[in-house]
Amino acid sequence: MVITFRPNATPEQLHAVEAKLRDLGFQVVRAPSSGPTVLAAVGDGALPPLAEVCAMPGVAEALPIPEPFKLASRSFRRETTVLRIGDVEIGGTAVVLMAGPCTIESEDQMVRTAAAVRAAGARVLRGGAFKPRTSPYSFQGLGEEGLKLIRRVADANGLLVISEIMDKSQISLMERYVDILQVGARNMQNFSLLRELGKTEKTVLVKRGLSATVDEWLMSAEYVISGGNDRVIVCERGIRAYETYTRNTLDLNAVAVAKSLSHLPVIVDPSHAVGVRDKVVPLARAAIAAGADGLLVEVHNDPERAICDGQQSLFPEQFHALAKQVRQIADAVGRAL
Ligand code: PEP
Ligand code: MN
Repeated sequence: MVITFRPNATPEQLHAVEAKLRDLGFQVVRAPSSGPTVLAAVGDGALPPLAEVCAMPGVAEALPIPEPFKLASRSFRRETTVLRIGDVEIGGTAVVLMAGPCTIESEDQMVRTAAAVRAAGARVLRGGAFKPRTSPYSFQGLGEEGLKLIRRVADANGLLVISEIMDKSQISLMERYVDILQVGARNMQNFSLLRELGKTEKTVLVKRGLSATVDEWLMSAEYVISGGNDRVIVCERGIRAYETYTRNTLDLNAVAVAKSLSHLPVIVDPSHAVGVRDKVVPLARAAIAAGADGLLVEVHNDPERAICDGQQSLFPEQFHALAKQVRQIADAVGRAL
C-alpha cells in the first residue's frame, strides 16, 4: 500500500498512520520525494482496508501496489531515481558509460585502459578483482591487490569504480575501494548477499540472472531496498537462449519493461549479452535507443591477450567509436552523454 499525505499533514498525523501500520506488522518506508510525504507499507500480513487508511487525518490517498516488487516499483515512486556519486548522476538526463576490462590484471593494463575509456567519455571504471569463473581452474582475480590498483588508477583519471562482489564476507573490504558494488548474474538470487547489501551505503548494481524473469530480477533489487539501501541500479546483460552464434541474447524487451515498471536506473551490458567484439557497438546503440540509462562495456588495452573475456572486449578505438555513436543516439532520444 502506498499512502500520500496532504501537503498540510502534521507530523502527529504521519506518526499515527506509521504507528498503525507498524503495529499490524508492516515495514513502513518513506519515499525520497521533494513533494508531499509518501509512505509505503510492505510486508506479508493483511493490509487494513484502503478506505480505513484514507479516512485517517492527513491522508490524501491510499492505493495498493500491485507489483510484487513494492519499493522498486513506479507505483511507489513515480519519478526515475537519480543516483549521485561524486559529480556523476546515474538515471538523469545524461547516459553514463562504465567501461574497463573484465578482470584487473596489471598496472600497465589498468593505466592504459583507464586513460582510453576516460578520453572517450566514460565516468566509471570497471574491473573484477573477484571473478565468478565457470571453471575452478581459471584465473579467479587479484583480490585486494586488484582493488587497490583499480582505485588508484580510477582516482588518477577522475573515474568512479565498479567491481563485482561475490560473497557477503567481501563487503567490508570492497566498501573501502569501490563506489558501485556489482552483483553478478550468477549471484542475482544470492539472497543472503542481497540482504547484507541492504545494510551498506554503497550503490549496488544488480545484474539480471542468466534465465531470470523481469519480476525475479526486480525482486532481487527489492531485497536490497527493503534491507535499507535504496541506491540500486539494475543491469540487463543478456539471457540464455538457443542461439549459438552469440554468447547470450540481449533482451531489450526487458529494458523497456523494467523502465516502465520500476523507478530504478537501468543499465545495459552489451559485452556479456552478445559475447562477440564486433557486435557490441550496434547493441550499445540499440540499448540507448531503447531507453537504457547507461552502458557497462568491456574494454581492454590489448584484448587479444586479455586473461578473461578478450573475445568480447573492445579495442580502445572501438570504444571511442561506441561513445561517438551513442552520443548521437542519446541526442536523438532526448538524452545526452
Ligand atoms: C562481468 O561483468 O565480468 C561478469 C562476470 O558479468 P555477468 O555476471 O553478467 O556474467
Ligand atoms: Mn567479463
